[in-house]
Amino acid sequence: MSARESDTFPEHAHSVTEIAANLAAVRARIDAAAARVGREGAAVRLLPVTKTVTEPRLRAAYEAGVTQMGENKVQEALGKARAMADLAIHWAVIGHLQTNKAKDVAAFAHEFQALDSLRVAEALDRRLQAAGRGLDVYVQVNSSGEDTKFGLVPEDVPEFLTSLSVYSSLRVRGLMTLAAHTEDRERVIGCFQLMRDLRDAARQAGTVGEGELSMGMSGDFELAVEHGSTCVRVGQAIFGRRPTPDSLYWPGRPSGR
Ligand SMILES: *Cc1c(COP(=O)(O)O)cnc(C)c1O
Repeated sequence: MSARESDTFPEHAHSVTEIAANLAAVRARIDAAAARVGREGAAVRLLPVTKTVTEPRLRAAYEAGVTQMGENKVQEALGKARAMADLAIHWAVIGHLQTNKAKDVAAFAHEFQALDSLRVAEALDRRLQAAGRGLDVYVQVNSSGEDTKFGLVPEDVPEFLTSLSVYSSLRVRGLMTLAAHTEDRERVIGCFQLMRDLRDAARQAGTVGEGELSMGMSGDFELAVEHGSTCVRVGQAIFGRRPTPDSLYWPGRPSGR
């Protein structure tokens, strides 16, 4: 079996029944992966990723039991949060943030999983303090070394975590990564192991709270669970294959930095 089970993505799911069935299937796969390594499936949070999924389908998803939604683009997330303000949804922004969008995230998000610069931390904290809000954050790490990915280089993580302690509105929950996008299982596992080592060291240093590990997506979430993930971010395995190429959503090169 390859690391990326891309051929197993379901068809586009629209109805409550279809989405509920896909959710249950993903949950069962998480539980089975956890059981293989003697972990409790309940220790793994499933964060459904809803980018590109339209409002009617999201309302169906809500009915199917989806109450957390992960979005990688702030404008898209904010628009959806406003349009669905009548529903009790936990919004997680999981994609790279430019400093000038910090105020939007501070206004509506419950969680931000892609923190990778002190400038963004500072901008978020300022807005959050003004609004009297707090925000759960995960520090994004570039565990694959691919220059197409955002995140801190692993060596910078300990000092970065230490520096975050001055931003009292940010609740540091753990680390987040996108593993290498490859069929090579060993490389993917290497990314997950690196994350686990970084997390363990940070836990010892007392800089990462509980030390959650957000890793694993539709193509590799079972491997991630086998290697210690506590939060998998899954889109296509729940909602169906995205019609548009991912390159549009994972803007190739972080050239804006
Ligand atoms: C899109 C995305 C995911 C989910 O990817 P799927 O292949 O749909 O499961 C997870 N994490 C991030 C940061 C993403 O942008």
